[in-house]
Amino acid sequence: MPLANGRHTLAIPGPSVMPERVLQAMHRPSPNIYTGELIEMTHSLIPDLKAVARTKGHLAMYIGNGHAAWEASLVNVLNPGDRVLVPATGQFSHGWAEMARRVGVDCDVIDHGRRSPIDLDQVEAALRADKEHKLKAILAVQVDTATSAKSDVAGLRKVLDAVGHPALLMVDAIACLGCDEMQMDDWGVDILVAGCQKGLMVPAGTCFVFFNDRAQKRRSQVERVSSYWDWEPRSNPEVYYQYHCGTAPTQHIFGLRVALDMILKEEGLEAVWARHAQLARAVWAAFEAWSEDGPVELNMVERAHRSNAVTAVRIGAPNGVNLRNWLTNEAGVTLGIGLGMSTQDDPNADGFFRVGHMGHVNTHMMLGTLGAIEAGLTALDIPHGSGALAAAAKICAE
Ligand SMILES: *Cc1c(COP(=O)(O)O)cnc(C)c1O
Repeated sequence: MPLANGRHTLAIPGPSVMPERVLQAMHRPSPNIYTGELIEMTHSLIPDLKAVARTKGHLAMYIGNGHAAWEASLVNVLNPGDRVLVPATGQFSHGWAEMARRVGVDCDVIDHGRRSPIDLDQVEAALRADKEHKLKAILAVQVDTATSAKSDVAGLRKVLDAVGHPALLMVDAIACLGCDEMQMDDWGVDILVAGCQKGLMVPAGTCFVFFNDRAQKRRSQVERVSSYWDWEPRSNPEVYYQYHCGTAPTQHIFGLRVALDMILKEEGLEAVWARHAQLARAVWAAFEAWSEDGPVELNMVERAHRSNAVTAVRIGAPNGVNLRNWLTNEAGVTLGIGLGMSTQDDPNADGFFRVGHMGHVNTHMMLGTLGAIEAGLTALDIPHGSGALAAAAKICAE
């Protein structure tokens, strides 16, 4: 008998579960956008977003999703005909590279496949081979949401410095900002892109491009930037705050204000990272136990290469799709689909699923999701190792 009534849990890797307080803050009529509360609130978001990215650099805010931030970051620092290096993990790097090609940028892609983080040695070799410094930037995804592969962003900066290569380090932290550690300035990231609908717990619709003075210098060498994406007016408070960039995303600003208060003032960013890390370890412990017997297998083998925001799982077709459907219909939990994992044998990626553990998540929610997965494995007669829930609970009890 279906036991799916009750509050439905969305355990997909973005959009993430939003706090009631964020939703309530957004549920109001639009205020005056020219004077008053909204202007001040917009001012207050800037330093707080920079604090989440750990940067003293600049910030341009846009109305758009992660794809918008991708495009914005590219067009401000690259001219058509420029070349970039894309050390690609999983799915999202290829998407960013495709967007770069569409604005006339040539991409040298190193494909690391679907089960590895960025290989720094290969990046180093590519940079060393580029004696004339034709490569203007590296496009790197910190956490690939499709594979849950996490790459070493600080390591990329070390490689650039060791080689003495001037390419900009551009990083996509859309999946994991506010979940996995990010130290934009300390790690030498020149441009960081993020959205609001994953770790930042707000509905999709605002996105952020953080950039430093090096990137700004490059901006001044770019011949033409289309006006909406130009980060100059957006990072200039006098212009942006007067909404010369169009109508402000009013409800988003209210929602983001509450979410940032929760992250920075109430819980604290480092505690937020630690919560994600502990819950991720609980999720891994459960999957490691299940994988002792039967088809369950974590996509990322090494813990150091796994994200604290999302876990990608291999379970063989059609187990993946069957389990996802069972959980939605019978247990009230929706898991993420296998993204970019299709093969000839498994054209719809039916042998995969993903668990989102980003943003507004706690022990109760993660153990609930894991418990429902255990019920699904049992109901569908998918063989699995025992002790998963006890192992996960033990980690939550630490
Ligand atoms: C979600 C995501 C994107 C795309 O963001 P959208 O808001 O869906 O456009 C890009 N990169 C990564 C790593 C993501 O997780």
